[in-house]
Amino acid sequence: MAPGGMVHATDDVTGRDAMKRVLIVEDEIEIARVLRDYLVAAGFSASIVGDAAAALIAVRNSAPDLVLLDLGLPGRDGLDLLRDLRRAATTPVIIVTARGEETDRIVGLELGADDYVTKPFSPKEVVARVRAVLRRGEARDAEETIRIADVEIDLPRMRVTVGARSVDLTPTEFQLLAALAREPGRVFTRAQLLDTLHGVAFESYERAIDAHIKNIRRKLEPTPGAPRYIQTVYGVGYRFTDA
Ligand code: CA
Repeated sequence: MAPGGMVHATDDVTGRDAMKRVLIVEDEIEIARVLRDYLVAAGFSASIVGDAAAALIAVRNSAPDLVLLDLGLPGRDGLDLLRDLRRAATTPVIIVTARGEETDRIVGLELGADDYVTKPFSPKEVVARVRAVLRRGEARDAEETIRIADVEIDLPRMRVTVGARSVDLTPTEFQLLAALAREPGRVFTRAQLLDTLHGVAFESYERAIDAHIKNIRRKLEPTPGAPRYIQTVYGVGYRFTDA
């Protein structure tokens, strides 16, 4: 399955301009409604669920293009739900946290969230993040395949294989890997890698890069503890092997 979500027959027919569907998981209905209104005004379709159980059902039944996930939910919390979502699908997820909950943000990113926003947020900012994450999930370079050692990265299809084994990456992980592998041997700083993800620097958050790299290694590397492909350049950043 391509990162970025399930295949929708209708999307295939109508192309990339098909209305993208966002699932808002938020128990505070006022906040949820504001988000929904902004998303709809921006040309998305948006629906709201208030807890983890309803969110799982909605993801299974309606296969949204993106999930906006408040971590502070009644009952099972958002991080638990994120774990389940990641098991079930590669749908992009943006987590919503309260200010000061840095640990939750890190854990969320380590669990494979694509981005985060902090409450209180500006709805416009949330819409911009949703756009950015969805853009990352779209295939951009129409015919390119990168092959280095036994790693093959099919850019338009967003497929990664190592030897015969296919590797499931989230859209963010895929973009990071593609950025590194496009220029094997080049050292990227964390800030540069952040730039490849967001296009614009909104908030320097370099530890997020470390979390994503850790996830990519776990999925890609034969021995994640002794990475062969994505090398750490101490004090600087990362590079994809050129050997
Ligand atoms: Ca909440």
